[in-house]
Amino acid sequence: MRDSNIFIDEAQLTVHAGKGGDGHVSFRREKFAPRGGPDGGDGGRGGDVVLIADRNRTTLREQKYKREIRAENGSDGSTRNKTGPAGVDSFVSIPVGTEVFDSSDPEGKSLCDLLTHGDKFKVAGGGRGGLGNSRFTTPTRQAPDFATQGRAGEKRELRLSLKLIADVALVGLPNAGKSTFLSSISSAQPRIAEYPFTTLVPALGVATFDDHRFVVADVPGLIKGANQGAGLGDRFLRHIERTHILLHLVDVGNALLEKRSILEEFNTIRNEISSYNSSLIDRARWIALNKVDLVTDRTQLNGIQQHLESLGFHVFRTSGATREGIDKLIMNLSRSLLERSS
Ligand code: GDP
Ligand code: MG
Repeated sequence: MRDSNIFIDEAQLTVHAGKGGDGHVSFRREKFAPRGGPDGGDGGRGGDVVLIADRNRTTLREQKYKREIRAENGSDGSTRNKTGPAGVDSFVSIPVGTEVFDSSDPEGKSLCDLLTHGDKFKVAGGGRGGLGNSRFTTPTRQAPDFATQGRAGEKRELRLSLKLIADVALVGLPNAGKSTFLSSISSAQPRIAEYPFTTLVPALGVATFDDHRFVVADVPGLIKGANQGAGLGDRFLRHIERTHILLHLVDVGNALLEKRSILEEFNTIRNEISSYNSSLIDRARWIALNKVDLVTDRTQLNGIQQHLESLGFHVFRTSGATREGIDKLIMNLSRSLLERSS
């Protein structure tokens, strides 16, 4: 039995914002006035470190290698009251769905939860620049010969936790072929081997169509009664609340061979989902009539397909075993997800 935390990926990250530049001490030099008024400029602000949620990332892999992020320091002020340029901010892209914790905080409090593409959060603020000596002129102090130093930038230890928001969740009775389906997506993706959720394969797959990558999650053990806590299902049902599309796999191959009712098996899962959360059922508009390789006379599927399509479902015929129909389904899922996010 797998843990409920299988969808969690974690990374530690130390972020250093830039130090502010120092204020400058100088005096105007003019003809006949070797020591004019003070003109030392201020230091520039240090750069911030900002996290930004990016839908094109699916893992925290990069943060595992690059454990320190530094933003640029501000530059020192200079003569003629010139303020030093501010340090450049450092942007760190992380996957949508990443929650960020301050690990130096004893309560480990959550700083932010970046849930939408483009969400930003400043995790370390750059230090203020120091003040140049010209700032310290007063009626009684015409020639201040001191400036202040820039402040240090904030430094923080972060723990990033990605609660994966799968784009597509596979649902279906045990033996519907979910694991096989997922690995057939993966076999089309040599990159899956690099996928860092090693313990998750085969529970997760990343499908790619053109340049669009999306995450497909297996929701194992969704069985009759799962909504009342029977079996494993309930925990996973909670997870799929956050996914966009539920793809329902129905084993039509064996159903036909064993003369079971496809529609009845289909409804078992639908009832399970809707009694858990009736709003979820709206996301369950996608059906794969799976294991079609076992169906020698495909016309047997016409009736059920037409029936489901007339009810407004997107219906596909697939086989995880032979990969028949998989590419077409992935292409359609990709299009639908892209439409939804644009
Ligand atoms: P899950 O319980 O939904 O994850 O189903 P599995 O992927 O473990 O598959 C259950 C059984 O069906 C296994 O014996 C698989 O080899 C078989 N199976 C899965 N997909 C297909 C398929 O497309 N065609 C055929 N013929 N068998 C399949
Ligand atoms: Mg399985």
